[in-house]
Amino acid sequence: VQTTTATADKLVAQWQQQLQDVHATDLLAWAAETFRGQIAFASSMGAEDQVLTQMIAAAELDIPIFTIDTGRLFPEVYDLIASTEAKYGLRIEVFYPDSKELEAIVRENGIDLYYKSIALRQSCCEVRKIHPLQRALRGKTAWICGLRKTQAVTRGAVRNIEWDKANQLVKINPLCDWAAEDIWQFIKANNIACNPLHDKGFPSIGCACCTRAVTAGEDIRKGRWWWEEPNKKECGLHR
Ligand code: SF4
Repeated sequence: VQTTTATADKLVAQWQQQLQDVHATDLLAWAAETFRGQIAFASSMGAEDQVLTQMIAAAELDIPIFTIDTGRLFPEVYDLIASTEAKYGLRIEVFYPDSKELEAIVRENGIDLYYKSIALRQSCCEVRKIHPLQRALRGKTAWICGLRKTQAVTRGAVRNIEWDKANQLVKINPLCDWAAEDIWQFIKANNIACNPLHDKGFPSIGCACCTRAVTAGEDIRKGRWWWEEPNKKECGLHR
């Protein structure tokens, strides 16, 4: 399927109507077929992403998986990439920031630039996450993400199929209506390996310098960029 800006809204509205109650596994199968060769799954190796990897691997769907190594990840994430590849016998393609671009912003603003202002934090996310994502999505028509409505105040309007204006792609969020409990039940039932930091108070795991543990009952995004207002806490990957 080739989508253009002119037809995208209409097509996406049709798909939303047809596929609104479809289970995540069926939506993934539909996406693999509909966007064959032009789709990829962006995994941040979080719990939701591990659920999607399990579904893709179990159904042997033709959906390549990639992740972004910002250079500031927790060591546990690298272990999980390796163990997930070994378990499912697949390759998770890793995209990295451009070294020249990264060296320039660090030279100009210091190694801990993200704590200095929201603008600098966003520049860091731009260089370390958004630009590698744009490279990963080049030539694609659609991408898959593990977004859920209840993950953050910024994500309440997430739909299972959306037109991603920023990237000019169809964006598919098969788990958008799942609650956190549904995710953990599925993980338990299918014996899925997850980042051990989830058991240490990290419901949402990003870069090590920008993520901290939360206490029971605290908002799950409280541990991300904790020095910023909740409604500004997105890295720009999901605009
Ligand atoms: S989360 Fe922090 S270290 Fe990671 S890319 Fe964004 S600002 Fe930079």
